Amino acid sequence: MAINYISEYGKETVLEQIYTEIQLVYLNDSRPWVIGYSGGKDSTLTTMLVIEAISRLPIEKKQKKIYILSTDTMVENPLIKNYILRNIDLINKYAKAKKINLSATILQPKMTETFWTLLLGKGYPSPRQKFRWCTHRMKIKPMDEFVDKIVKEYDTSAIVVLGVRSAESNSRRQSIENHSVDGKILKKHTTNNNAYVYAPIEILSNDDVWACLLNSTSPWGFDNNLLLSLYRDASDESECPIQQDVNAPSCGQSRFGCWVCTVVSKDKSLSGFIQNEYDELRPLLKFRNHLTDIRDRAEYRQNYRMNGSIYFLGDAKDRRGLGPFSVQGRKKLFRELLETEVNFNKAIKESEDKRFSLSKDDYQHLITYEEMEIIRAQWIEEGDWNDTLPTIYEEVTKKPYFEGYVNQPFISKDDQELLESLCEENEVNEDILKSLIALENKHVGLKHRPGIIASIDKILSRDIVHEELAVIYQGGHNENNEGDN
Ligand code: SF4
Repeated sequence: MAINYISEYGKETVLEQIYTEIQLVYLNDSRPWVIGYSGGKDSTLTTMLVIEAISRLPIEKKQKKIYILSTDTMVENPLIKNYILRNIDLINKYAKAKKINLSATILQPKMTETFWTLLLGKGYPSPRQKFRWCTHRMKIKPMDEFVDKIVKEYDTSAIVVLGVRSAESNSRRQSIENHSVDGKILKKHTTNNNAYVYAPIEILSNDDVWACLLNSTSPWGFDNNLLLSLYRDASDESECPIQQDVNAPSCGQSRFGCWVCTVVSKDKSLSGFIQNEYDELRPLLKFRNHLTDIRDRAEYRQNYRMNGSIYFLGDAKDRRGLGPFSVQGRKKLFRELLETEVNFNKAIKESEDKRFSLSKDDYQHLITYEEMEIIRAQWIEEGDWNDTLPTIYEEVTKKPYFEGYVNQPFISKDDQELLESLCEENEVNEDILKSLIALENKHVGLKHRPGIIASIDKILSRDIVHEELAVIYQGGHNENNEGDN
């Protein structure tokens, strides 16, 4: 219906109505705006229309703050990430030149909640639909926390502007005529009580969106034909919208999803590019497929949960359920990830320059030092007292590991070997003993040790300490939160 609307009345008319509405909503109150920009077609058009509408206002009327936010999961497809960074930079320059009170920013998840710190650090199994631990932590939470921060700062609610669309128009024109904004044009945010959602392109169809994009250059000067080429040859045109709801379908169904996404059965983020001769991405696709393949392999996983509990698959109690990736499995994956990084950078150097190519002068990191330090600390806490992460790093990359800030292991190699042989001799669970020693080390020198008894109790209550009893009493757990426990 909307496409006819455009054909019948002309694109300009529809766009003028949207500009009028945007200006009305913007001038209606002093609540700051937050625009979710994923780099996909819908959020690009939304950002374009908002910037255009606001830039038409006289200077004294365009002082209300607008934040344009893009979430970088830290496992974005590197080509898409590059594309978004270029746009963010241009948007900021354009807003400055046009004296619009706007800033475009990239948000990232907390370092302790990135894909790698959870998977390689804590051992979370590669995400899948039943255990999708990534979207909320990596996409929704950074945005929600930002909105909460500005709500506090401005002491008011915020308007979240999204590029969501629906075929149904909800008497919006009437709302504009009535100057009725709250409850009509703005809707309650699904997860954040302090926010309202405004969707300026809600009434547009897919074709409308492309028609608008391809008949204009973005105000900040980016050629939208480049955006079209991002979508070209994709078997599915869906994009990764700014996620509001953890129950929404997986955001990995698109070119704008994470390159490591194992939630979807077939990768969409890398394959399209590879089909279009971006062969440098092949090492990434190989590793992503490997992550899917090994997910349920026992040699990569513990046979008890993170909290030490054990469970069985089915009633027979003869098949132990799997827990997180074991420290051994994590080390193996870390090595494989670094090998992928090395191969990826080699492939970039050998590749031909194309539209979205990455600079041959910059080294592309697939994992940051900060993440590696968190992973390293976690491994040490779980008994990797040889501190193997820097060694693996140096072996694979042939570069020195940087000066880390993690506490070095507190026991010499000889003492460690002695401890291991004593555990074996006395049939004591080595992991448990190491956990107790690590706990003591964490509290050493402290006058007050709040919570230490509860922590000791937690370690000693693990099923794996009393495995025979646990086997008798346990059973019937399902696998849904196999690692997150
Ligand atoms: S794209 Fe995949 S890995 Fe990334 S947040 Fe979405 S579901 Fe998780």
